[in-house]
Amino acid sequence: MQLNFSGLRALVTGAGKGIGRDTVKALHASGASVVAVSRTDADLVSLSKECPGIEAVCVDLGNWEATEQALGRVGAVDLLVNNAAVVLMQPFLEITKETFDRSFNVNLRSVVQVSQIVARGMIARGVPGSIVNISSMVAHVTYPNLITYSSTKSAMTMLTKAMAMELGPHKIRVNAVNPTVVMTPMGKAYWSDPHKAKVILDRIPLGRFAEVENVVDAILFLLSDRSGMTTGSALPVEGGFLAT
Ligand code: NDP
Repeated sequence: MQLNFSGLRALVTGAGKGIGRDTVKALHASGASVVAVSRTDADLVSLSKECPGIEAVCVDLGNWEATEQALGRVGAVDLLVNNAAVVLMQPFLEITKETFDRSFNVNLRSVVQVSQIVARGMIARGVPGSIVNISSMVAHVTYPNLITYSSTKSAMTMLTKAMAMELGPHKIRVNAVNPTVVMTPMGKAYWSDPHKAKVILDRIPLGRFAEVENVVDAILFLLSDRSGMTTGSALPVEGGFLAT
């Protein structure tokens, strides 16, 4: 999607791989200054080579104190993409405190923390802003062993609405994107088995999984002024799955 983000500074979490990595590349190509936040330094080193001039921040977003230290003074940010997440699969009866806490800390608590840092800065500068939270179609439907993950994404739906309500008066829009399966490293880890994949594919009217580019386009649209009257929404990128 051809959009111009020149003069704006964007922060993308989970920037090392998959959707986050391609979002950084698209924002960089569209003229934004980009802060790329992720957990594995080697990913950030290779991304910095592909996108000269980006700022790389290596931190575990599941660690509140480390995140505060790494991003507390990140400075002016106009566009935020909360993308980092983990999938820790367990059936309901085997969910542990560790996987539950880790899932919510990375997938949801870090969204609160990073958005607070960024939104406070926007409000202090008196500038408008746009925040996009990367959710999932499993915010609306669930699958075996995905209870904790889908709960984090379902909670993200309400967090997005509540943030939109409180930040709207400051001209900060907050929206979510809800993709179906995308064959990133995360997608491949869980959906490479053709039998498992077929169960989902059979219910997608468009008959295919999403490409990373489909998700990035939705993110860029919601970040941009082209969606200037849209806030608190959850944009499906699921080929019609939720309609069936
Ligand atoms: P990937 O696992 O391919 O990439 C996720 C990135 O986030 C990695 O760079 C990873 O770093 C980083 N990350 C994970 N945990 C942390 C952490 N604690 N601190 C900092 N960085 C972290 O995922 P996708 O690109 O597939 O997913 C991106 C988003 O899209 C997620 O929110 C996911 O839930 C959502 N989504 C994905 C779908 C899919 O099928 N792929 C479908 C629907 C939604 P590292 O590898 O070093 O841990």
